[in-house]
Amino acid sequence: MTIKRFPLTAKQVANITTTYPTPFHIYDEQGIRQAARNLKQTFSWSETFTNYFAVKALPNPHILRILKEEGLGVDCSSLPELLLAQHVGFTGDDIMFTSNETPANEFRKARELGAIINLDDISHLEYLEHVASLPDLLSFRYNPGPLRSGNTIIGDPREAKYGLTYEQLFSAYAMAKSKGVHRFGLHAMLASNELDPLYFIETASMLFDLVATLAREVGITFSFVNLGGGIGIPYRPEQEPFDLDIFSRGVADLYERKIVQQGLPPLQIVMECGRFITGPHGYLITTAIHHKETYKDYIGLDACMTNLMRPALYGAYHHVTVLGKEEAPATHIYDVVGSLCENFDKFAIDRSLPPIDTNDIVVIHDTGAHGHAMGFNYNGKLRSAELLLTTSGNIQLIRRAETIEDYFSTLDFTGFNGQA
Ligand SMILES: *Cc1c(COP(=O)(O)O)cnc(C)c1O
Repeated sequence: MTIKRFPLTAKQVANITTTYPTPFHIYDEQGIRQAARNLKQTFSWSETFTNYFAVKALPNPHILRILKEEGLGVDCSSLPELLLAQHVGFTGDDIMFTSNETPANEFRKARELGAIINLDDISHLEYLEHVASLPDLLSFRYNPGPLRSGNTIIGDPREAKYGLTYEQLFSAYAMAKSKGVHRFGLHAMLASNELDPLYFIETASMLFDLVATLAREVGITFSFVNLGGGIGIPYRPEQEPFDLDIFSRGVADLYERKIVQQGLPPLQIVMECGRFITGPHGYLITTAIHHKETYKDYIGLDACMTNLMRPALYGAYHHVTVLGKEEAPATHIYDVVGSLCENFDKFAIDRSLPPIDTNDIVVIHDTGAHGHAMGFNYNGKLRSAELLLTTSGNIQLIRRAETIEDYFSTLDFTGFNGQA
């Protein structure tokens, strides 16, 4: 069981909405800091353990600054993400660049910042050398194909576009070595939103074995293994949180047997978790603006897929509560929907909830990762503001809501006079 809390009272939210109308996302700084500390603390047996926060999960410099203070690195995969990282002051080894189908200018920027580059394909080695230069430290992403099963979001590794095959890894490291690369990393990310620690323990086991084999066969030394991101969060109240202790103890045991006892040099263990750090600490705050009864009972919100795509994209569950009615019996079954002309635009289907009145505040939970960030402007819908509930209890605007001017800003459009 996971209790779905919300850190503000109805009165506090009413206060906030006088300045910042719904919909908006609000993030809980204290929760984010605690999650970052928990992950680090769990791996305290490994002095060099680092989580590179996947910027795509919540690409806001205010959040990245908080994570920097907590000692995290950042995992980037595009030029704007690299620029965000640079803006916040991340450089060199603090940045992991795990991209795919990467354009030349992005590799150049990653090299300029001294980021750790994690290549997605054997052909990218010469591409990187050609468009920028090869670094001293280089990593490759492994895709074990038929040797492992994936989970639902990433799917069967054989169908996943990411990474090199087992055979390609040997040639890739040998080629990199012959081109003068000295230090190496190895990465794999096979699952997303996975709640079973055994899955990650198996990935660690696979990577430790592979490090030993590659080191021996190719004659190279590994500096790190990167277990990727993908630690899940309990979106559903009946789910248990990911067991960090089982995970950490499993990895520690394998590290002892497969690295230390084999006489291999010390290996840094890193991850690229985004969701685990910020996911549970974000909330989409919306207002119920319509109630419609046809073949089903609908609650229409002032938010839509633009604000949170996960339910439509993956059929993902997001917990929904009605502010001030947390303890009220869930006597109604509703579809809670957004305003896009797309029948996928539903936050919850057949959800048991207390009776909802117009103007009730509806809270959608666990929107702190892959929430606002995925938003798009389809149907002329604008992305919302992002607020931060700081550790001292203040409300800080960390991204303003988009305006109609923003929406039109890429058009050569003279018919708009700025009046909505
Ligand atoms: C998306 C992604 C992550 C982060 O995934 P989470 O589920 O947020 O932990 C990390 N690494 C890579 C390469 C990714 O594509």
